[in-house]
Amino acid sequence: MKKEEIELIKDGKRLDGRGFEELRPIKIEVGVLKRADGSCYFELGDNKVIAAVYGPREMHPRHFQDAKMAVIKYRYNMAPFSVDDRKRPGPDRRSVEISKVSREALDPVIIKEYYPKTAIDVYVEVLQSDAGTRTAGINAASVALAAAGIPMKDLVSSVAVGKINGEVVLDLNAVEDNYGEGDMPVAMVARTNTITMLQMDGRFSQEEFERGLKLAATACSKIYELQRTALLERYSESIGEGEA
Ligand code: UDP
Repeated sequence: MKKEEIELIKDGKRLDGRGFEELRPIKIEVGVLKRADGSCYFELGDNKVIAAVYGPREMHPRHFQDAKMAVIKYRYNMAPFSVDDRKRPGPDRRSVEISKVSREALDPVIIKEYYPKTAIDVYVEVLQSDAGTRTAGINAASVALAAAGIPMKDLVSSVAVGKINGEVVLDLNAVEDNYGEGDMPVAMVARTNTITMLQMDGRFSQEEFERGLKLAATACSKIYELQRTALLERYSESIGEGEA
């Protein structure tokens, strides 16, 4: 179906009032689930996601074990009530693809060699969606992995950039995603500028692509600081409690 053109920019601002290089508000809470080894609630504008990490634990079935390292499993799931039109429950092509790319986005930072023959399970549940759920899920999962005490080289941060009415903008919302000309989700280790996921939907010129990547890198650095602060706040609290 061909998308109709609609006006997504008015007087130099986007329809939700943001500038071109502005992120939606972010809220991060660590340790929200008591049964998980690590968990994180992540809000990105109207997206609300929860990540839960279990493990390292023995891998079943055993033929999926890797004798040399842990195996990372990642399941992205969108709740039926998370979108306007009820989503049919259960996995579909989209969620299988998102689970795969998200796992690959996090895999390079996890020191898997410490836990041979085990599985580390990452579950991401989308409770409310407004475009950018895979990026919110990766941000949440990264924090939840750290909260679970999984040895990692660094955190991974993620954001999408896109193109609306010919302009490259940061962090598309659902209307912009639906009616815009392009969407490019990126995940990276912000401190080293190492890209661990890059997808593209639509068309970007080389110049637009480079500009988008720069916007994403700057935003990932901001998200990284928020992730780090959320972890520090959570764990300085528990150290404080222990001292009492
Ligand atoms: N969406 C929806 N129903 C679906 C899948 C997606 O309404 O079955 C909406 C939802 O708001 C989602 C957005 O479309 O966040 C963009 O989806 P996309 O596949 O681009 O992934 P995302 O941007 O969430 O990572």
